[in-house]
Amino acid sequence: MFDSNSLQLLEHALTHLKDGFTELTAFQSDVPLDAMRAVLVETAERLKDNYPYPHPLYAGQMLKPPHEVARLAYQLAQYVNPNNHALDGGRASSAMEREAVAEIARMFGWDTHLGHLTGGGTMANLEALWIAGKVTGGKKVVASSQAHYTHSRICGVLGLPFESIPVNSLARMDLEALEAKLQEGGVGTVVATLGTTATGSCDPLPQIIELQAKYGFRIHVDSAYGGYYALVHTLPPATVEAYSRIPDADSIVVDPHKHGLQPYGCGCVLFRDPSVGAHYKHDSPYTYFSSAELHLGEISLECSRAGASAVALWATQRLFPLVKGGEFAGMLANCRNAAVKLHRRLSEDHRFIAVLEPELDIVVWVVNATTIEESSRLAREIFEESAADDLHLAVANLPASFFGNAWNAGTSATVTCLRSCLMKPEHVDWLDAIWGKLDRATGSVLAS
Ligand SMILES: *Cc1c(COP(=O)(O)O)cnc(C)c1O
Repeated sequence: MFDSNSLQLLEHALTHLKDGFTELTAFQSDVPLDAMRAVLVETAERLKDNYPYPHPLYAGQMLKPPHEVARLAYQLAQYVNPNNHALDGGRASSAMEREAVAEIARMFGWDTHLGHLTGGGTMANLEALWIAGKVTGGKKVVASSQAHYTHSRICGVLGLPFESIPVNSLARMDLEALEAKLQEGGVGTVVATLGTTATGSCDPLPQIIELQAKYGFRIHVDSAYGGYYALVHTLPPATVEAYSRIPDADSIVVDPHKHGLQPYGCGCVLFRDPSVGAHYKHDSPYTYFSSAELHLGEISLECSRAGASAVALWATQRLFPLVKGGEFAGMLANCRNAAVKLHRRLSEDHRFIAVLEPELDIVVWVVNATTIEESSRLAREIFEESAADDLHLAVANLPASFFGNAWNAGTSATVTCLRSCLMKPEHVDWLDAIWGKLDRATGSVLAS
């Protein structure tokens, strides 16, 4: 599961890096190899206490291993340990960040933008909503009830009013409820989630844009998880439509550490209008000396940031350019293929109820049982039973309305469902193995 052959590439690259510094007077820092060996073995022992995230039979939470090239480039950068706050701290890695981020902006259809990497999606959304608050004069932010939970908390931090908009049975923002809220007035920003974290559902961006013409508000697209699907055309028509309108948004968030093959923490925030950079203005007395050029710290809320994240992302995009029909796009398409296949098998099996067709690569389903309570209990048991057989799924509490009318439950009823994020390109080839284990676990739980 863990490849160590590629470590020789790191050694090879490190030799090249060393060449850049040969003119300096030699110096050797003390590396206590023997003591380190013991500590590292102890570390490895501790790290055994983990679910096997990189393995294809880990098909639970939104976790995807970084690509080998990202891991190695990150490690190579560690020998320099650049800080992308200022060009003083990270010259090469700042340039690499700007190139990598510009390529992400182009993926979304923007030739000009203002943007940078962040510690993750939460920080990226915080910046987007911080700017939204500045531009709209502190007006209300709304997002769907399936939007990431951090939006309401971020608004709390920013002192912005926040309201939640209900979703329909497709887990997408309900447009009538949104329009009713807009008619009340005071809405400054609508957050459209393209790829919700629970079900991978996409809010109806084209219709939200129509409402924008009538009511006037900012649009922030949170595609922390789903953003890279902009490269894939084999999605359902409404989903493709939603992605095609991303360029009309005011800001976008995408997490390279979710689907972009990067180690944590690598998020990215983009603004369509570069002039919002004026809101970041500060004059730190000691950080910027080496260059009158723009330092990334002048357009970001965080100060110190790992230059290694930018280096890893840049290297990954060299290997897998963000192009439609490219190798990386093909990997994403395979993730969705795996999700569609699993969904089809589930919906043909009377033991389960699977109604939401995956828009991206997340599958959710419930156990067919007479009551919500019984279904929820069985889901948790199947989750445990599968894990005991090395198939790692996830559970989630979701509105019962996502699963048809099985229980005639009220709109606020929730059910514990099984959930699988099929985010690895290998998942499509492992589907029979995954199904075999799920089938066995379900049989055993239902027989007991
Ligand atoms: C994961 C996620 C976030 C939060 O991002 P982190 O990188 O975990 O901080 C925000 N929005 C959506 C839609 C997400 O999927």
